[in-house]
Amino acid sequence: MKKRIAVLGATGSIGKSSLDVIERESEKFSVVLLSAHSSRSQLEQLKKQWPSAVCVLTGESSQTLLDAIKDLQPDIIINGISGSAGLEPSFAAIEAGSNLALANKETIVMAGKLILSLAKEKNVKIIPVDSEHSAIFHLIEAHNAPEEIILTASGGPFRKLSLKEMEKVTAQDALSHPTWKMGQKITIDSASMANKGLEIIEACYFFNMPAEKIKVVIHPQSIVHSMIRLSNGAFYAQLSKPDMRHPIHDALHWPQAARNNLDILNFDSLTLEFEKPCLEKFPMLGLAWKAAEKGGLYTCAYNAANEEAVAAFLQQKIRFTDIPVITCSVLEKNWSLHYSDKETILKADSDARLEAVKIIKKMA
Ligand code: NAD
Ligand code: MG
Repeated sequence: MKKRIAVLGATGSIGKSSLDVIERESEKFSVVLLSAHSSRSQLEQLKKQWPSAVCVLTGESSQTLLDAIKDLQPDIIINGISGSAGLEPSFAAIEAGSNLALANKETIVMAGKLILSLAKEKNVKIIPVDSEHSAIFHLIEAHNAPEEIILTASGGPFRKLSLKEMEKVTAQDALSHPTWKMGQKITIDSASMANKGLEIIEACYFFNMPAEKIKVVIHPQSIVHSMIRLSNGAFYAQLSKPDMRHPIHDALHWPQAARNNLDILNFDSLTLEFEKPCLEKFPMLGLAWKAAEKGGLYTCAYNAANEEAVAAFLQQKIRFTDIPVITCSVLEKNWSLHYSDKETILKADSDARLEAVKIIKKMA
């Protein structure tokens, strides 16, 4: 029987890669649901290609999408929606009893504890698609529980710039990523290393590890997708070309490790470099460790403040180096409330955004 798949955010970078993986293995998978936010013509194109899929344009409201998830109960839902808008569909996926192949890291950063415990209760699996977490997830399945997790980071386009030079970078500069082709928001986050910050938090929740056990190393080639260190001192790493179709393929086939027909890494002339990240140049890293350590709603506030700051940077209201300044100010408020429901998370998200917007207005 074919696995019935939903692709949320089907017109985006993750969505397109997912549909490519599914098309290559159409004897194993069928597409039952596709969603996009505003790109109507692209979604109409996809409807021609996948005529049996229900296609939903979410626009102003995601209710139709949430209803479609409930009705269709797909076997696997790939969540490739960008930003906090991915949260509600993730909850709906779990409520529907669908396994969740999760690219939308914001879901975990905002609601980690709650969503993971709900998944356990409903007996559904959340399989990470973020390349680092996919690597760690499969490494942990193959080995013992790690002593330490080492997240690799490309370092983005500004790795070699000085702090002074970083003050002057434009959105266009930040949107040219050296190794990955991704959506706008995650590309800016990669340049500020907020993406790695979100991934530190994602790793803490996913693998139930304290923040100090999650390390970050710069690896500009993006070939080693992450590593774990076991108690005997041995490191295990996962390597492949930087192509999101690898983790998507692995998530769709989990728990099997199935063959794929993607390009294989060639070691004939491969150089792998590693270096320490500069915390002064990339304060979003330090702020993420702090937010993860504090727990509660701090991680949700980190995400909300960063999302507002990135939007303001793209609208040329603030400088690139203001993104961590805004996030830091928002995190100075008290977010220590422990939560056990989605509403409290959504309220904290909205409060943190209001706070960020206030600071942005003062700066502009
Ligand atoms: P993208 O901008 O290319 O695509 C986003 C998709 O989400 C589009 O289909 C868009 O229509 C939809 N969308 C946007 N806003 C929406 C809203 N308010 N409601 C409903 N749908 C909405 O983004 P992307 O690069 O594919 O990233 C998607 C997610 O995957 C992000 O959370 C990102 O952090 C994560 N991720 C991406 C990559 C990558 O290589 N692109 C790697 C790891 C993780
Ligand atoms: Mg990643």
